[in-house]
Amino acid sequence: MQLSKQTLNQPLNQPIEQVYDVLVIGGGAAGLSAGIYLQRYLLSTLIVDKGKARSHWMQELHNYLGLPPNTPGQDVLKQGKAHYLALEGDYLNGYVQTVIDEGETFAVHVQIGRKSPTEAVFRSRYLIAASGIIDHLPKLDDMQNVFDYAGHNLHVCLICDGYEMRDKRAGVFGSSESSLEVAFSLGWFTPNITLFTNGEFDVGQELRDRLTQKGYRLVEQPIKKFLGENHQMTGVQLSDGSVVELDTGLVSMGSKYHADYLKGIDLEYKGGNLVTDPMNRTSHPRIFAVGDLKLGMNQVVIAAADGALAATQIWRDIRRAEGTRRSPLITAA
Ligand SMILES: Cc1cc2nc3c(=O)[nH]c(=O)nc-3n(C[C@H](O)[C@H](O)[C@H](O)COP(=O)(O)OP(=O)(O)OC[C@H]3O[C@@H](n4cnc5c(N)ncnc54)[C@H](O)[C@@H]3O)c2cc1C
Repeated sequence: MQLSKQTLNQPLNQPIEQVYDVLVIGGGAAGLSAGIYLQRYLLSTLIVDKGKARSHWMQELHNYLGLPPNTPGQDVLKQGKAHYLALEGDYLNGYVQTVIDEGETFAVHVQIGRKSPTEAVFRSRYLIAASGIIDHLPKLDDMQNVFDYAGHNLHVCLICDGYEMRDKRAGVFGSSESSLEVAFSLGWFTPNITLFTNGEFDVGQELRDRLTQKGYRLVEQPIKKFLGENHQMTGVQLSDGSVVELDTGLVSMGSKYHADYLKGIDLEYKGGNLVTDPMNRTSHPRIFAVGDLKLGMNQVVIAAADGALAATQIWRDIRRAEGTRRSPLITAA
């Protein structure tokens, strides 16, 4: 069956015959990179992506070799998708609900559309889990007030944006005592740090003493709202109306891991992250994990490299199993 390169809108009332070599779940930096390599290895690929990748929220990619340091994440995604589509990979806007291991193949159940959704089942020999994570944000009554600043100067990633926070008045927004530990690493970049609990958890004496030693402030009152304009946060208003002025902030509240569809398959995890070997193979021989979902560093450069590694190992596996040159592209089972 012919898939639209962008999306699949027509109802799917017939079983899909094609078995892809690889189905990639997630079209962020890791999944698109994998897709580009897979297509260039003459392997048939379907990327299924539900949209709003983590890099979609990245206003500026500051640390990628060869790209201007203000490159928007959305540009990276757009260019990556165009590159993949130019190599004739299949791409579907959809949400992967479950994956069933059938032995030789995986059956991947995909929900397509939101208002009147249809379900389709796609099959592949290999699977790449490239579905990433999404950051938890402070829970305020008006969440739009949080979204206005998150990803701008209210950062979520110290490795990405520590440099941007240097010598500034920085707020750290935690969700637990341990999440506040990031303040000590942020102290490498700026000495002016205020930690916020939003009144949601207690801080023990030991941590209080360490914060005092460093000269960091602890604010335990609930937060009413962020202040600022044009996506630049300038401080926090607390529940008693008082204001703490800030130049920047770092949210350290953990993440949601997008791996629910793998629940039926026994895989090794550490925390929410999938554990892989150096070529990004998980504890299942035909499932690879790349990017933020796998154990490692959450960076675009790592995600892109992860995709290349996984695709290359899958090519090696298939090439060794088939033993012959594959040309023209074989897409049928
Ligand atoms: C605000 C912000 C700033 C950042 N700044 C930098 C920076 O300056 N430098 C840097 O290197 N990194 C930065 N990062 C980190 C970087 O964005 C991530 O490391 C990178 O995007 C990870 O890529 P990924 O492909 O693993 O995941 P993602 O880009 O998140 O892509 C995963 C995709 O999978 C999709 N998906 C999830 N579940 C399903 C499902 N069930 N079915 C179908 N699709 C699904 C998601 O919708 C998403 O499109 C930043 C991140 C944020 C949030």
